[in-house]
Amino acid sequence: MSDRATEILKDTFGYASFRGEQGAIISRVVGGHDALVIMPTGGGKSLCYQIPALMREGTGIVVSPLIALMKDQVDALRELGIRAAYINSTLGMGEAWEAEQLMTAGEFDLVYVAPERLVTGRFLDLLSRTKLGLFAIDEAHCVSQWGHDFRPEYLQLSVLHDRFPDVPRIALTATADEPTRKDILSRLDLGEEDLFLAGFDRPNIRYRIVERTKPREQLLAFLQSEHPEDSGIVYCMSRKGVEETAEFLCKNGFPAIPYHAGLETHVREEHQQRFLREEHLIITATIAFGMGIDKPDVRFVAHLDLPKSMEAYYQETGRAGRDGLASQAWMTYGYNDVARVMRFIDESGAREEQKRIEKEKLNALLGYCETTRCRRRVLLEYFGDELEKDCGNCDTCLAPVRTWDGTEAARKALSCIYRTDQVFGAGHLADVLRGMDTQKINDFGHKRLSTYGIGREFSKRKWSSIFRQLVAQGFARVDAAHGSLKLTGESKAVLQGKVEVRLRDEPERVVKSRKKDGRGKQSVTFADKGDEALYEALRQTRNDLAKEQGIPPYVIFHNSTLAEIVTVKPGSLSKFGTVSGVGRTKLQKYGKVFLEVVLAHGRKDAGEDEVTGGRGSELKYEAAWQESVGEETGEYDGGDEDNYPDDMPHY
Ligand code: ADP
Ligand code: ZN
Repeated sequence: MSDRATEILKDTFGYASFRGEQGAIISRVVGGHDALVIMPTGGGKSLCYQIPALMREGTGIVVSPLIALMKDQVDALRELGIRAAYINSTLGMGEAWEAEQLMTAGEFDLVYVAPERLVTGRFLDLLSRTKLGLFAIDEAHCVSQWGHDFRPEYLQLSVLHDRFPDVPRIALTATADEPTRKDILSRLDLGEEDLFLAGFDRPNIRYRIVERTKPREQLLAFLQSEHPEDSGIVYCMSRKGVEETAEFLCKNGFPAIPYHAGLETHVREEHQQRFLREEHLIITATIAFGMGIDKPDVRFVAHLDLPKSMEAYYQETGRAGRDGLASQAWMTYGYNDVARVMRFIDESGAREEQKRIEKEKLNALLGYCETTRCRRRVLLEYFGDELEKDCGNCDTCLAPVRTWDGTEAARKALSCIYRTDQVFGAGHLADVLRGMDTQKINDFGHKRLSTYGIGREFSKRKWSSIFRQLVAQGFARVDAAHGSLKLTGESKAVLQGKVEVRLRDEPERVVKSRKKDGRGKQSVTFADKGDEALYEALRQTRNDLAKEQGIPPYVIFHNSTLAEIVTVKPGSLSKFGTVSGVGRTKLQKYGKVFLEVVLAHGRKDAGEDEVTGGRGSELKYEAAWQESVGEETGEYDGGDEDNYPDDMPHY
């Protein structure tokens, strides 16, 4: 790695060393070669083009579809002392013209522009009059029709290579599956040698899946006990679900705002801006929300409905914890999800082949939900990554799942499906097994069946869990049209008693409160009261400064930087400059203000080089693992079943 790149990393960005392949990628691009960078969210993709843009002669052009986020990105760069600008439709004509003049005059290190503008003849002419350092193609998966964010304008980006063959291109994305990756390489005319594929693991995210009983109450209990003052995203499938969940959370003391494609553009943008700027705000959203959201302190991502695939799950949960601090991916999951998603796939009008793929993807996700193994291992294996040992930071690792021999139960369940002609869902089947006296049972004469009343030993909820697991293990399947359960080719072996079926034990779960006083800020806590107070004072200072300037707080300093200031307790500006995340410009601009806050909180010794960190203060995550709420309530009633989900062109 060149000294110059390391110097910029330290001096401009305030970081001590490169992460993973950043160094290698930067060398390659600085050397004038192309690159495709696939790195998980929070992996540090931006530096891979920002540093080369500073090192190469000429301007770096960043192509991004996310107009609404450009201003924040540019503000963040300016805070670092980098000459950056954006040119998009939010600028007035005069402003845009001015920015263009400055660009051609070579006044910028980096210019952000949307693809539809970039490929116009007019803009290409401007570019041909500009000395260009590189092209960075952000969210590069938009070029692929496999990805779910396909943008036709991205296809036209091949023009860059034709018009400016000597300008290196670096494409970046967090979307990782192989078809998409191949598609990007071929559409942008890049070779295998350009590919940099980082591992997918996000070690700071804790994965948890709880059995759904009352989803909103479960969510509330989770937030109350573990994220009382945090920012997070709650994904719901339908717009109605989004609206109702936001309302429910507000009513229960959690500030929340909705986001979905049915809201007017200006409302959507306002909500997005608020989410980026406020520290304790929850956004409830459909999948329409999230791409490019680089808010670093999203402490949790919750799913109230099943995402549509492992890819979607990974991408959505990946929005948690970009700052590297402890974060959670939490999901409620129940039998109805399976039936519902199956139905959406079937009603989608997609070609049969496509439907088959979607169903396979759903099955992979079900397998993940029902696994008794380390969740992270299962997740990473899906993407072709291996973990050497269990992660210790997922629910199955933290509270190992007991399994039981469910062979007999499975046989009863499958025979009941068979005896009722494979046209009923899990709810009715459970009633039959439990020998209930319902209208439906009487109407269909199901009391006469040999399977009537043979399963009284289990609750309705337990049967629901058994049916779900049978589907996940391939011993039964859900018919998309009616949500009814059907036998599969593998059912027979179970019915004949030829295979053993292991099932998860799902104990009734109890909520334990993490902390009596209900605090638990940003996953940064200090054992020492004085440190806690200092952290709060620093946070207040930062938030005030951000408000004055109209920028998100994290653009000034991340929480992790504030936490390090508390630990180091710098007594001088030079010491302050050693804190990770404090570069030259920020030191000049903010060093004094924050130093005064530290000093005001009484630094006992002013010795410059003395190691002051670690005394009573430490950055630690409250490792309070607990189970989520669970009541015997029967099945989730599906609530918004009738509402078609947002943005679901894929089905
Ligand atoms: P991505 O675009 O891949 O999601 P970012 O580029 O936004 O990730 O980086 C995520 C966070 O990690 C940012 O806050 C960034 O400043 C920080 N970061 C990136 N590279 C380094 C590094 N080498 N050392 C310390 N922090 C880094
Ligand atoms: Zn694990």
